[in-house]
Amino acid sequence: MSEAPARPTNFIRQIIDEDLASGKHTSVHTRFPPEPNGYLHIGHAKSICLNFGIAQDYQGECNLRFDDTNPVKEDMEFVDSIKRDVEWLGFCWSGDVRYSSDYFDQLYQYAVELINKGLAYVDELSAEQIREYRGTLTAPGKESPYRHRSVAENLALFNKMRDGEFAEGAACLRAKIDMASPFIVMRDPVLYRIKFAEHHQTGNKWCIYPMYDFTHCISDALEGITHSLCTLEFQDNRRLYDWVLENITIPCHPRQYEFSRLNLEYAIMSKRKLSQLVTEQIVHGWDDPRMPTISGLRRRGYTAAAIREFCLRIGVTKQDNNVEMAALESCIRDDLNEHAPRAMAVLDPVKIVIENMPDGTEILTVPNHPNKAEMGSRSLPFSREIYIDRADFREEANKQYKRLVLGKEVRLRHAYVIRAERVEKDAAGEITTIFCSYDPATLGKDPADGRKVKGVIHWVSAADALPAEIRLYDRLFSVANPAAADDFLATINPDSLVIKQGLVEPSLANAPAEQAYQFEREGYFCADSRDSSTDRLVFNRTVGLRDTWAKTEA
Ligand code: ATP
Ligand code: MG
Repeated sequence: MSEAPARPTNFIRQIIDEDLASGKHTSVHTRFPPEPNGYLHIGHAKSICLNFGIAQDYQGECNLRFDDTNPVKEDMEFVDSIKRDVEWLGFCWSGDVRYSSDYFDQLYQYAVELINKGLAYVDELSAEQIREYRGTLTAPGKESPYRHRSVAENLALFNKMRDGEFAEGAACLRAKIDMASPFIVMRDPVLYRIKFAEHHQTGNKWCIYPMYDFTHCISDALEGITHSLCTLEFQDNRRLYDWVLENITIPCHPRQYEFSRLNLEYAIMSKRKLSQLVTEQIVHGWDDPRMPTISGLRRRGYTAAAIREFCLRIGVTKQDNNVEMAALESCIRDDLNEHAPRAMAVLDPVKIVIENMPDGTEILTVPNHPNKAEMGSRSLPFSREIYIDRADFREEANKQYKRLVLGKEVRLRHAYVIRAERVEKDAAGEITTIFCSYDPATLGKDPADGRKVKGVIHWVSAADALPAEIRLYDRLFSVANPAAADDFLATINPDSLVIKQGLVEPSLANAPAEQAYQFEREGYFCADSRDSSTDRLVFNRTVGLRDTWAKTEA
């Protein structure tokens, strides 16, 4: 991955270029506005890279603003995780973290202004009636009987709402716009509702909370946002965004632009559904390495650079954005192929005894990366008893199989050429030991007599290897579009986690959490940040290698 990624171009950046060229704006100010009701996922990464990326490239600013208008679903755990994830992705927000709740007093005053202008009223229809009266895409809505209250009455009732004198659901504040508008969002949308809920920022100060559509545009304007970027489902809401700002006294009118959401195959992006996976304990928390969350990907071994590269490659458009999992995987492979030190681990060990080798340990010095000398080298113990992977030996095989076969030779990675002489089996017929001989003249050299040895297999020294739990993660869902299933939980991949008790080379004793390694011929792995310790090593498979081994070997 290049250190200075190319500057992306997309329709939003074109709009910004034009706004700067025409003098409409002299600088750019964006924001990323998550609701703290879940952890961030790879879809949010797209929005983060867009908003913070624009601020970076245009020497502008990007705010982090928590869109915290629904205290019932929000939590400080989510606030903290979101800040951590944005920073980890490599971005800095401008100034302090903001909260929509910072503006509750001002929002209240703007609501009063709308009431005073005859543009908002307190409605006492039930939520269900409001829905009925709203009409449909083909039928206009119907006016509420409370729509024509006087300004004075509305002011008094709105105060009553704020003072907790109405029950939850008994009243709400609505904008007075147009019940026949072809845009349903414009049919007298609700601006404030009553919720007797403690808020993570404002405590019990409020029992009325502003709705997203009222809050978002005003928060943007108060912060001097120039370009307010959101996903396409808010396209119609842009009319309401503009209506609110046009009808209150506020000096700034940011412009909203919409782009398409990221959908990733074999994954789910709905926070509600992700939260269900967590609460029903189908996964082990929001940072389970199978989750499409930033923290899950991070724990699995994804790097921030790979996620940023992915966002660059998928681009920003208005077209539906269904991306193959392979696109994400190729970003992390490209990164780790270049940057991950190599190591050896045997996932399904079978013992080899090299009978003609003397007792004792030989310390080999081997490079950490096949073509990056600057990544240094490490010591690798070799001895007459080693383990190889059970799948790397066959008693009989055709020429396609370039691993160890009885009576034939193979090279041990970084070590010698060995020949399999005989096997020992248990009562069940399972091989317990493979007895081999080695050619002591083949360390780093081909056999002197010109014998060709094609296959190379990995191994660990029996006396020196460390036991490790190895977690093989796969896609969480077994269908490409789990969101479309009637019951998405029925499409969970039962093999999304397979646990192996393996052996790793001793240099991995203190493998730091999240440090990626390529386990040669197996894939990319990192020590698990929650469960791995020097007493009990646990590695997560980030992603397999490109299928070269599978393709060239039977
Ligand atoms: P959900 O609908 O699942 O609750 P959300 O979109 O409401 O998710 P927010 O916390 O409001 O989640 O999202 C913050 C920002 O991230 C918004 O600007 C939103 O448009 C953007 N975003 C969320 N999901 C995606 C996605 N899949 N692709 C691109 N941007 C996204
Ligand atoms: Mg949202």
